[in-house]
Amino acid sequence: MKWACGEETSTHTWNEDLIRSIFSNQEALNILRIPLPHRPIPDFRIWRGDQSGLYSVRSGYRWLISSELGVSWDLNAVQDEWLGRFFKSLWSLDLTPKIRIFVWRMIQNYCPTFSNLHIRRINTNLHCLLCGSAPETNVHLLRDCSFVNGVCAGLGINLTAPSANQDWLKWLADFFVSLGMHLRRTLIIIYWVASNKHLHENSTQSIQGLINSVRVYLHEIAGLTSSVSAPLAEVRNDRWSPPGHNVFKVNFDASFNSLQHSSVSGIIIRDENGMTMAASSYPHCFVADPESAEALSCLQALVFA
Ligand SMILES: [Zn+2]
Repeated sequence: MKWACGEETSTHTWNEDLIRSIFSNQEALNILRIPLPHRPIPDFRIWRGDQSGLYSVRSGYRWLISSELGVSWDLNAVQDEWLGRFFKSLWSLDLTPKIRIFVWRMIQNYCPTFSNLHIRRINTNLHCLLCGSAPETNVHLLRDCSFVNGVCAGLGINLTAPSANQDWLKWLADFFVSLGMHLRRTLIIIYWVASNKHLHENSTQSIQGLINSVRVYLHEIAGLTSSVSAPLAEVRNDRWSPPGHNVFKVNFDASFNSLQHSSVSGIIIRDENGMTMAASSYPHCFVADPESAEALSCLQALVFA
């Protein structure tokens, strides 16, 4: 089956009548919410992940892990009992998906550790920001870092080193599963906080400081934030600040209607004195989600400017 979208004279709008004549109402809405490019781009086949040329979630997952992430990951290994237990216990923790996925990515070596950045010639500093004694790799942060080990010890976790010939992932999986639920949660938060470079680059960290940060997270998770005196969240400064001399500043925002899947972009351009030079609002239909609404608003602001 060959597909074509848009009118003959326009390539940036869906042919709504055609879409609705083929698909069910919900399917048509889902298709119409897919953004189209604003300039002509020739059609080409995207999915080259396997021999069949047919996309499936399984084939996409396999391609993402083994090819795109640049890591050797044998999916069949998930069938290993120990690895299955490990991931099951990781996913079942009552932590936000963001933290669980981050640790999962760290285990896969898909995080921007200094070693990975160095390989891609992005960062010249190789050494761990916490201990400074070894290159920052995922295994270093998850197992070997003396600083992380100190934080773990302060929170009741003894990161016992594996024997020389033991696979580090097998060691981590067995160690993690051997912990009680509270210590599992604590260990994941330690990894999360220890890997937060923004936190470390802006202040000198001590082991006790990181222990306190982990406790703050644990308190927040337990809904006890009111008893915490030093929350980690940054204080946002939402006051508008003027641009420099002879410079105009463009601000934009978006409202999103989740029932109608529509949004409105609001754009304002001001000078150094705060005087409004131009302002605009622009409605959008078939918007998939709030992130798309923000992206559309950003695009509209650039076009408007
Ligand atoms: Zn270290």
